[in-house]
Amino acid sequence: QSAFTNEFAFTTPPDMPKLRARLFANENPLGIAPSAKEALIKAADIGNRYAWMEFGQLKQLLAVDEGVKPENIMMSPGSSDILMAAADHFAKGGGTILTSTMTYDDLLQRAEKFGAKIKAMPMTKDFKFDLPAIKANITPDVKMVYIVNPNNPTGTIIPTAELEAFCREVAPKVPVFIDEAYIDFYEPADRPKLGKLVADGLNVILARTFSKIHGFAGLRLGYAIAQPDMLKTLHAYTNGEFAVSITTLMAGIASYKDKDWQNHCRAENAKARTYTTKALTDMGYEVIPSSANFILFPIRMKTKTFENQMFANGIGIQTREFSGQPYCRVSVGTMEEMVMFMDGFKKVVG
Ligand code: PLP
Repeated sequence: QSAFTNEFAFTTPPDMPKLRARLFANENPLGIAPSAKEALIKAADIGNRYAWMEFGQLKQLLAVDEGVKPENIMMSPGSSDILMAAADHFAKGGGTILTSTMTYDDLLQRAEKFGAKIKAMPMTKDFKFDLPAIKANITPDVKMVYIVNPNNPTGTIIPTAELEAFCREVAPKVPVFIDEAYIDFYEPADRPKLGKLVADGLNVILARTFSKIHGFAGLRLGYAIAQPDMLKTLHAYTNGEFAVSITTLMAGIASYKDKDWQNHCRAENAKARTYTTKALTDMGYEVIPSSANFILFPIRMKTKTFENQMFANGIGIQTREFSGQPYCRVSVGTMEEMVMFMDGFKKVVG
């Protein structure tokens, strides 16, 4: 058992089709944008072609918005591929990856499997990355810092100015990998613009995904923003950009342009999240304020018992255990699903 690993009680439910509310995987409950579906179907007609130019189109759109050059962007089938490439690369030859407890551990588990040590600093009392503690622990053996913002499973965010200052100080010494899977849940005006750190030449790697607000978890589309040299290094660990299909890519371009759909999904998510947070708080549960499409809160039952009983009530959720405290992580579904969740929750906890 590794020192950092979150006790992860979740397993895919065998009777998943029977779930009334599928709230365990931080998916977009509203589906993909109608404009994306239309583009997806249309792109079937060019499914015989390699997507040379189409990759360029999406990179150009992203580059303009991020203030970087297209050569600072590498596409991938979901951001997991970027995370795995970084894990493989930075684990090579040993060394340490520095991060926080209570974070997303796919990259960490993979890196550990391939020889890296993981050093996870405790979170702050309000469940945020403790950047001063991380900075104080950058020793010569640290190969990479891994930050998730907004963080999964806590849903917390790091103040943008603090994160930027951290990157400016730390990235000249060691690469900083920022997993921004949930970044689209920020209101656009508040969203950290870390592309400018890359534009300034810093060794920062941003991982993004279309799996969340764009609803592409099954279609698979993600990308990295980093220095061209770093992308070239990471590329060697991937199956190449053509691992993304032309249909997904064209749907991605349409979805990316469809700001109305994104605004709609963000607003619906915020509404259902506020409802659930209030309902749980009213029952006396201490909900960690979330800026993403899931909520984490401590529960008063054993993880497995809770999870099984929720599943038995048709509600799929995940559980975690940190320092002996069990937590429920529930994805934000539609309002209807969150009403079902509260209903099931009340039945289970009595
Ligand atoms: N990073 C974080 C923090 C996640 O929570 C997830 C998935 O839930 C991923 C990365 C990987 O997502 P995907 O490979 O679908 O882009």
